[in-house]
Amino acid sequence: MSRDLEGRFRDRSVARDLQTLADMIGIWCEGHHADRERRPLQSEASDLGSYRRRVRVCEECAGHLRYAEKRRALCPKDPKPFCAHCEIRCYRAEEAAWQRQVMRYSGPRSMWRGHFLDGLRHMFETFRHRRQARRTGSQNDESTGLAGNPDRGPSDRAPE
Ligand code: SF4
Ligand SMILES: [Zn+2]
Repeated sequence: MSRDLEGRFRDRSVARDLQTLADMIGIWCEGHHADRERRPLQSEASDLGSYRRRVRVCEECAGHLRYAEKRRALCPKDPKPFCAHCEIRCYRAEEAAWQRQVMRYSGPRSMWRGHFLDGLRHMFETFRHRRQARRTGSQNDESTGLAGNPDRGPSDRAPE
């Protein structure tokens, strides 16, 4: 792991976002993969202590979470908007689609599992973004949220 990436994983705002992301994926995994073996997450960020709570996930969900960890750590936006409101779309299309379904399922459930304020913030930001998009006539697809980028290859390269 590069020193740059290591530093990003140790950043407080990155760690906070990673915890939220991991909790969402944990809720999804619990609801959809309860019959699978689910272990505490093993990843580069977890090895560096980025998580206060380590979620239990199956290996498939762990793979998605490891991918998302790097996208968040290497995000060039500061402050980072919700990915659904970002024009860069650094996620590969299939990862974006997977995460979208996770958020739809886990978002409402997470409000009663320690993420009430995150849920309120998300609703407020979405409302604000929609209003702004209506004013500017933006083509950003609100219904799809995290849109993904079909031009992204299978590599884990950083957002440009
Ligand atoms: S989609 Fe945008 S906001 Fe989300 S991680 Fe990528 S660059 Fe950052
Ligand atoms: Zn799972």
